[in-house]
Amino acid sequence: MRVKHKDSTSPDASALVELVAVAKTGDTLDGLLKRTELPAEVRAAAIRALSSEFNPKELRPGHEVVVRSDEQEGEPKELVLTIDAGVKILVTLDDIASIQRIEPDLIAQEHATTFELNSSLYASLKNADAPTRFATDLSLMLNPLVPFNRAFKGGEVFNILWHEYLLPDEREAKPPAIKYVRIQMPERVIELVRSSDSDNHARIYENGELVRTLVIPVEEGQISSAFGPREHPVFGNVRQHTGVDYAAQRGAPVSAVAAGEVIFMGRRKGYGRVIDIEYSAGVVGRYAHLEDFQPNLTTGSIVSTGEIIGSVGSTGTTTGPNLHYEILRNGRPMDPLFGSRTVLSSLTPPIGPEQSDLQGMRYTFSQTLMD
Ligand SMILES: [Zn+2]
Repeated sequence: MRVKHKDSTSPDASALVELVAVAKTGDTLDGLLKRTELPAEVRAAAIRALSSEFNPKELRPGHEVVVRSDEQEGEPKELVLTIDAGVKILVTLDDIASIQRIEPDLIAQEHATTFELNSSLYASLKNADAPTRFATDLSLMLNPLVPFNRAFKGGEVFNILWHEYLLPDEREAKPPAIKYVRIQMPERVIELVRSSDSDNHARIYENGELVRTLVIPVEEGQISSAFGPREHPVFGNVRQHTGVDYAAQRGAPVSAVAAGEVIFMGRRKGYGRVIDIEYSAGVVGRYAHLEDFQPNLTTGSIVSTGEIIGSVGSTGTTTGPNLHYEILRNGRPMDPLFGSRTVLSSLTPPIGPEQSDLQGMRYTFSQTLMD
């Protein structure tokens, strides 16, 4: 597709011509750029520049490249690669070192629903126009406190408040995130609160009492795989999954779940880029598949709870960007969410605004439901 485009940012510039190419299955970045008629040496330079912000192996169908060239001389001026979630990478071709990542403005929308369970949770969510992935998200967050395979007899009432994130063109920018859930069961009420964006805790209440605090090392990250035996996504066989995976966008900040000392930073087989933090004698948190380490962090650094230590990536053996988080106790992995309460509660003492959080979320839920 060839369209004329008047460059509005520089009024004295001559008209630019745009060439657009959209990635297809099996495309390489070079193959995609070839379709924009860029000469081989410009393509090579563009790929080198792009690689600092984008792994060419992660090109997916639908990613789009636009090359803008001078109408008179035909000389390529700039290239824009649009990748997932509307993120754009701009390369200025007459000054190849200049590369800029442009994040889209996301629109956050609050939604609320309430329903009585009278079929599977999946079907009930679908009926209520709520994201069906919450069936999995909730079972991962609440199991074994609420064993989803046998806890429900029908008639339980669910209240759910969640956020959806849209791009300016209304496409989904990232997966919807649960903020508040209330499950009214015959014998008890379970509530889950994941409140402000600055707070990386999810709190679970039973009959209004805080019973568990989950610390989430990636803001807005969703648990995508729990601790325990599972079919390995890369090798196919059943292996012990030694941690918890949080699916998140590449580059999303990873923060320390608890304070401690960095005792290892570097690469480990399978884990890719990894940081080990010793929280207390014999208790180590491991953060794996990182894209980058936080600058200035070194072995021996002391980090505090919530401090940013790196960013989400897909280094090591992974199928896509995620944080693999594990806790080792005397060298042996334990369940970071439901392992020894003694160890976990010493990492995240149940202090903080947990009661006001709960009140606030109940209020937000009822307000959103009425809107
Ligand atoms: Zn994992």
